[in-house]
Amino acid sequence: MGFFSWDCLGCGFSLRSGNPSPVWMRTVVVARRNSTMLSGMYDGYGRVSGSPINPPSKIMSPVSAYHEACWRVLGKPKGYTMPSTSSSDQGLRPEGEPQLKEPKTKRDLMALREISRAAKQAQNDESIAYLRKQLEKLNEPERAARYSDAELKGEKRRLKDWIRSLEKA
Ligand SMILES: [Zn+2]
Repeated sequence: MGFFSWDCLGCGFSLRSGNPSPVWMRTVVVARRNSTMLSGMYDGYGRVSGSPINPPSKIMSPVSAYHEACWRVLGKPKGYTMPSTSSSDQGLRPEGEPQLKEPKTKRDLMALREISRAAKQAQNDESIAYLRKQLEKLNEPERAARYSDAELKGEKRRLKDWIRSLEKA
């Protein structure tokens, strides 16, 4: 299994591993379902400062995940509260992401939340535009025109695989 991560319940950005993400995005607090907590550096493979978050057979079990900085601003919530979503960026810094400052106040956190929401939206739109372009390029304009954005979004994975197979052929 490759890199994977969860989105922070505070700011919405993923728990990061490695440079070039800032240290605060790599310093995390995670609560397991049984409410035991781990804190330290995330390694991108489900471990916090060397300790596995979940057993290998249940590696994606739900956790409440935070950047430590966000967790502090939220008043250091104890134990498992709600599941973090699995990160679409796998915990790797997306290209072109601006340097994000460590949140110190609720207001900082709200600002980060807005940015992560906008970034996710943009990423989605971008890949929909990409799929449409590829479909057109591969001489499938009819097929491209037939799909609405919402349908493209719903079928993204299947279409991506299909486009990849055509590109290889
Ligand atoms: Zn956060």
